[in-house]
Amino acid sequence: SYDELRKCTNNFAERNEIGSGAFGKVYRGLLSDGLVVAIKRAQQGSTQGLLEFKTEIELLSRVHHKNLVGLVGFCFEQGEQMLIYEFMPNGTIRDSLSGKSGIYLDWNRRLYVALGSATGLAYLHEHANPPIIHRDVKSTNILLDENLTAKVADFGLSKLVSDTLNGHVSTQVKGTMGYLDPEYYQTQQLTVKSDVYSFGVFMLELITSKRPIEKGKYIVQRVRTTMNKDEEEHYGLWDMIDSSIRDTSNLIGFGKFLEITMQCIEDSPEDRPTMSEVVKALETILQNNG
Ligand code: ADP
Repeated sequence: SYDELRKCTNNFAERNEIGSGAFGKVYRGLLSDGLVVAIKRAQQGSTQGLLEFKTEIELLSRVHHKNLVGLVGFCFEQGEQMLIYEFMPNGTIRDSLSGKSGIYLDWNRRLYVALGSATGLAYLHEHANPPIIHRDVKSTNILLDENLTAKVADFGLSKLVSDTLNGHVSTQVKGTMGYLDPEYYQTQQLTVKSDVYSFGVFMLELITSKRPIEKGKYIVQRVRTTMNKDEEEHYGLWDMIDSSIRDTSNLIGFGKFLEITMQCIEDSPEDRPTMSEVVKALETILQNNG
């Protein structure tokens, strides 16, 4: 229970640092009942951090879904601000794609990763009440549990849609370069379609295994240029596909996957699908191929 976890700082005598992010450092920890958890510890003395911390608690405590990394509890103690999450033993999708975690994702597995994370986001957008815009969808925020089920993490930047007028959140630009919706970047008008754009960039990562910006070049631009040059459907993209999946699988549903990806990264938000449309399309690909 939350009350029990309020006393939790005592339980983390042995904290192993596993990463760090915008919010602060992340540790692996063990609760007294034996549950392995990920502990996000805020950098101390930052008001910004405190605000994001409280936002995150509010959001996560009422959101439960199999494709979202669950908040197990939190700590406010001795000036500490910590969030306790279920531990994802198989790391982030970025770790898999860069060969860091030793989890190899073949094409079929990538389809399931896309479907799982899309389902989690569709839940945030369409079933959480009020709707939640994630605001920082990226491959380091999508993690794999023990069964290699994809789960979306890190709601530190999320804002409640109902807090705002007309479903728009007007705010400073946040999020991660390379994933930012161009419309949001210009107008600072944030909608669920900003997440759809970032998700499209994530799908490009699943195809190419590349980071969204490499050597100063944006993956979105590279793919668009390649596609425009292409007379024969998407064959020009062939060279950009991660060679390990290109060589070892028959890339079931690839054409359809690419089509959804390109729709997600459309410049204007109205031309992008909703996350549940993305879910349906991915389900169709997987159903057609057992
Ligand atoms: P960022 O701010 O860059 O999104 P986070 O603070 O969310 O980063 O997380 C930093 C790192 O900590 C991640 O890249 C990941 O390696 C690890 N991590 C985060 N959450 C978990 C979790 N629930 N289980 C296991 N590892 C996690």
